[in-house]
Amino acid sequence: EERTSLLEEKNQLIQERNIDIQQKAEQLEQSTKYKSEFLANMSHELRTPLNSILLLSKLMADNEDLDKEYTEYAAVIQSSGQGLLSLIDEILDLSKIEAGKMDLEIHDVNVAEVLTDMKSLFKPIAQDKKLALDFSLTDNLPDLIATDKMRLEQILKNLLSNAFKFTTEGTVSLLIDINSQQKTISFKVKDTGIGIPPSKMSLVFEAFQQADGSTRRKFGGTGLGLSISRELAKLLGGDIKLESEENVGSEFTLTIPLNYHDKEAFLAEQKKV
Ligand code: ADP
Repeated sequence: EERTSLLEEKNQLIQERNIDIQQKAEQLEQSTKYKSEFLANMSHELRTPLNSILLLSKLMADNEDLDKEYTEYAAVIQSSGQGLLSLIDEILDLSKIEAGKMDLEIHDVNVAEVLTDMKSLFKPIAQDKKLALDFSLTDNLPDLIATDKMRLEQILKNLLSNAFKFTTEGTVSLLIDINSQQKTISFKVKDTGIGIPPSKMSLVFEAFQQADGSTRRKFGGTGLGLSISRELAKLLGGDIKLESEENVGSEFTLTIPLNYHDKEAFLAEQKKV
């Protein structure tokens, strides 16, 4: 009899603890939701006044009647404002992803067009930094893939800006290849820059993390780009892999399904490996 009552007591305790854990999980979920909503609202409220700052500082920076000293001030206001706007956009993206509210727009996307877009965007930067640009695609590429073009380009822009940012000499390349067996397409962004030490490789995909504390001051940036990129890659049904060697260079490979609607198949295949 004593044993049964002990058992009952134990069961009672377990049950109470389970209820407690469940309540804590619900509270956590609720506060994550509040946080995301708060961030989304704040981003919106910050953006409106910032847009006036950007517009008016641009008008002043371009005004030839103003003293050069003042147009230079206006240009600084303009570029600082741009930096702030990118940060707000990144925070908004991250909170949308966290809240599960990042909606994709899946269409037929012309891969050659994506490559051309990236070329025209990064050619001036390459010329400016005197870096070679090697952008190419394999011959057996299908004309169209089904994915979200804006998000795909957002990831590539992020990987390419990083490649340019952390490279002072050599080549930045974007190679597009397909794996017809796995029905995936990969975008390999490779640089000959400072590289990332092995201990920091998984860290750089975490929000607000940078490989080197001092890089923050040296290179600027928020440490949000890669975490957003990886989350977006996952939303598109794929992932980003990193290979890197210090003082040799880095290689980020984004792999997504040729057809977004094959996402489930791709994920199942990934699990098997
Ligand atoms: P940010 O560039 O704004 O700091 P990211 O999330 O894009 O944020 O990158 C996080 C960190 O990863 C960078 O601060 C840098 O330390 C490292 N990193 C990213 N890309 C490269 C690269 N191509 N070469 C070397 N380090 C890189």
